[in-house]
Amino acid sequence: MDRRHFLAFAVAGLARSATAQAPAAPTPAELLGASGEPYFIDWLNGFYAHALAAGTPRTVLDSALSALSPDPRVLALDTKQPEFARPVSDYLRGAVNDERIRIGREKRAAIPELETIEQVWGVPREILIAIWAMESKFGVQQGGMDIIRCLATLAALGRRRTWAESELMAALKILADGDAPRERLKGSWAGAMGQTQMLPSTYLSSAADGDGDGKRDIWGSAPDALASAANLLAKDGWRRDEDWAREVILPAGFDYGLSEGPSEVPYWWAGKGAQRADGAAWSEADAAAKCILLLPSGAAGPAFLALPNHFVIRRYNNALAYALAVGLLADAFAGAPPLVRAWPHETPLSLDDRLAAQTALASLGYNPGQADGVIGLGTRQALRAWQKSQAIPADGYLSADMVARLKASLRAPPTPQTLTPS
Ligand code: CA
Repeated sequence: MDRRHFLAFAVAGLARSATAQAPAAPTPAELLGASGEPYFIDWLNGFYAHALAAGTPRTVLDSALSALSPDPRVLALDTKQPEFARPVSDYLRGAVNDERIRIGREKRAAIPELETIEQVWGVPREILIAIWAMESKFGVQQGGMDIIRCLATLAALGRRRTWAESELMAALKILADGDAPRERLKGSWAGAMGQTQMLPSTYLSSAADGDGDGKRDIWGSAPDALASAANLLAKDGWRRDEDWAREVILPAGFDYGLSEGPSEVPYWWAGKGAQRADGAAWSEADAAAKCILLLPSGAAGPAFLALPNHFVIRRYNNALAYALAVGLLADAFAGAPPLVRAWPHETPLSLDDRLAAQTALASLGYNPGQADGVIGLGTRQALRAWQKSQAIPADGYLSADMVARLKASLRAPPTPQTLTPS
């Protein structure tokens, strides 16, 4: 019996192993030479049968999953929670640096395919180069983890099994389609591959051929990686000829409670006193776009009117700091001067501080959502409501000062107006 038939026999054998009296047939995991704890072996046997039933060619499965074992680093990384939350200001000082701006400007001039990519998908080349810079340092750091091993580990661990299995199926399809050889599927432990760090499913849906050789090579071809990012952004709703955000200057007495609030055109915001920091006029397209006010470091830092394209970048990576870094790098590649208002220097908040702030907001009658140390929209809105009650700028920004004030207000005696007059 050759190996191929042996595996088919083994898979069929799994179904009747409970009742069979004969010695148990080797399982797929045994035939593949897999190793690991029982949870991994059980998962692999089940997945092999599932992938085979779904039509994955046996040759692809056998070579892709040969000698597989779980990667202990993935478990460690998947459960790691940083003790300190890095402030946006600190992240941006690191991400938008002179060296990166210099390289980005060079790349902008050195890749002739960018002209066509920009015309076809309508995404400015500077945005694409900024994503490239953020994702892999212009293709240099693509991540050396074995994507199939990482996804198999994540699937076997079970916390995100459905997601990891569907990404693993997509990776197998990339191999079956002949888009890349097994050894090419390298990237980050969370499954992102290539110069623009795409998940296997994103590769299948959105990878594009930017250099015209008929292949979609996001690992080895910068034009392919950039075209793929452009195609993905276009599918996610990138609006041609519109900007991503503009810095604005807010007047004294401005209602900071409007941040992350109404979505209005720049003219409406001008009525509230928000003026472009560079003094330039809005383009016709931007003037008609609905904008949201963002205060990434609170009232102490720069303010932005975020156009719809900002939120398209957030679909690539849903972190405000990431989207700001991409936009600000893109502006810098195009020659824009630094921000008018500098980023403040901030103290990173510990998990204990973040939890204490959430607990305090809940005790004071505001609803920050679950006390999990993640300062999301719910916590920021609760903070804004409390800040309003204290007549301090309602920017919804949890600074070290706000944590101290929240802690103090828990300890403070009732304010005079709530006491019964004596
Ligand atoms: Ca190509």
